[in-house]
Amino acid sequence: MNKNQKLSKEILEKHNINTSYYRIVILEQIIKSKKCLKIDEIYKTLYDTTSTISKATLYNNLMIFEKHNILNKIIFNQDEIYYCLNDGNIYLYFKCEICNNIYKFPIDLQCFNSINKEGNQINSYNIASYGICKKCLK
Ligand SMILES: [Zn+2]
Repeated sequence: MNKNQKLSKEILEKHNINTSYYRIVILEQIIKSKKCLKIDEIYKTLYDTTSTISKATLYNNLMIFEKHNILNKIIFNQDEIYYCLNDGNIYLYFKCEICNNIYKFPIDLQCFNSINKEGNQINSYNIASYGICKKCLK
């Protein structure tokens, strides 16, 4: 088992999720890439690595990871779904409309604290923004 696979296993164990081979390799790909990935991108890398995984297996496990807050799901343009590792911070996700890169910026927690202070409970976030990144503006 490599370093990222060990880390994946630890994360799954911490959330009391059974550590199957597929779960470990799915999470490994997301940790390894260090960025937000589309389901198709995750699937392609996994297929190149395992050559056996089905899309249904991937979808089901991504849903489990999302439910346990291991992954953040970000939706751009209503139907482009991206996943990235939840590191405990809240980000504003910025998508460049030219190069399609996604950048993340930490958000001040103040406004979320006021939602909680009123007695509400936030379970998930989906904060997307669009524009042109500094590289493409040059
Ligand atoms: Zn760009």
